[in-house]
Amino acid sequence: MQEKFNPINEKIIDSHLHIEGWEHEGKSFIEGFDDYIASMNINKINIASLPSGKRNVSNNIMIAFYKLVNENAFAHGGLVYPEYPIPEKLPEGMDFVTQYKELMEIGFDGMKMLEGKPNLHKLIGRDLNNKYFDEFYTELEKDKTHLLFHVNDPDEFWDETKVCQEHKDRGWFYGDGTYTSYEGIYEQIDEIMEKHPTLCVNFAHFYFKSKRPQDLEKMFEKYPNMGVDITPGGEMYLSFDDNYDYYRSFFIKYSERIQLGTDSTFPDGGEACKWLLDRVYRYIATDDSFKGFNNRIHKGFNLPKEAKENIIYKNFERTVGTEPKKINKEALKRYIEKYKHLMSDDENAKIQQLCEKYL
Ligand SMILES: [Zn+2]
Repeated sequence: MQEKFNPINEKIIDSHLHIEGWEHEGKSFIEGFDDYIASMNINKINIASLPSGKRNVSNNIMIAFYKLVNENAFAHGGLVYPEYPIPEKLPEGMDFVTQYKELMEIGFDGMKMLEGKPNLHKLIGRDLNNKYFDEFYTELEKDKTHLLFHVNDPDEFWDETKVCQEHKDRGWFYGDGTYTSYEGIYEQIDEIMEKHPTLCVNFAHFYFKSKRPQDLEKMFEKYPNMGVDITPGGEMYLSFDDNYDYYRSFFIKYSERIQLGTDSTFPDGGEACKWLLDRVYRYIATDDSFKGFNNRIHKGFNLPKEAKENIIYKNFERTVGTEPKKINKEALKRYIEKYKHLMSDDENAKIQQLCEKYL
């Protein structure tokens, strides 16, 4: 890696980060993000909440506190589930439109959904195009609120002969017949987009379409506010390498639809986060040859200035905003009070400490 990342103080927004834990090696999550920003010399970040599956509502709350501490942080909030699968009738006040409005009132800048990832999709036990979500999408579309949406995973994950052991160990083999198919998940999204064609949505990880970019081209033609991010999954960079000329033109032609992000997660971040941002940035902005995903030597696209700027920060500003929203402390207090029963005593104690310090 070069000595110092971003020595020319370029404007860069990492649009896709996560929080997994409270602290690591004596560093709080707050210090962890501060460190990432300072060491990479970037001015803004976006943290996407994942309050479902193995995590819970504390993810939204921690991120709100980080926004309170760092006014250069954007955040996407996530929906909270009282139980899995989603019950026939949601508890009073926990329907998704209410949850969305609460998060917007607190000061979140957009919404994040991981619900299209096949394992979480299976857990919630409801299609993404069903009535539970539909009013929520209607509100997002009406408000032009940005949605960062993880849908699907690489198609190898359904094929026992192709999925690697590491992914299997993480629970990402979906070919045992109990998961929705790769095509089936896309069909749900097609239906959502038909119904909400102006939804302002970015599909994470290139929508797992790096082997079928023509599908993306068709969607870009049809849906004016839809885009993708180039957050690894390293597999997409291998596809970019394999079709280098096509993809370099694609990135120029559709530069207004592509956003930079790393998917880095505190606390397994540290050097890995920095490595990721360095590689993604160099692929877009430089003509360097460098060792990257699967130990491949990649050659950067060295995109023209306008296309590069669109990808590294302008599209984010256009779709989410130029400045992060401020946190409404009273709304955050109400939210903590309302959802504290969904967190452990230990987490509630930690949140109490944050309340005393910052609210
Ligand atoms: Zn992610």
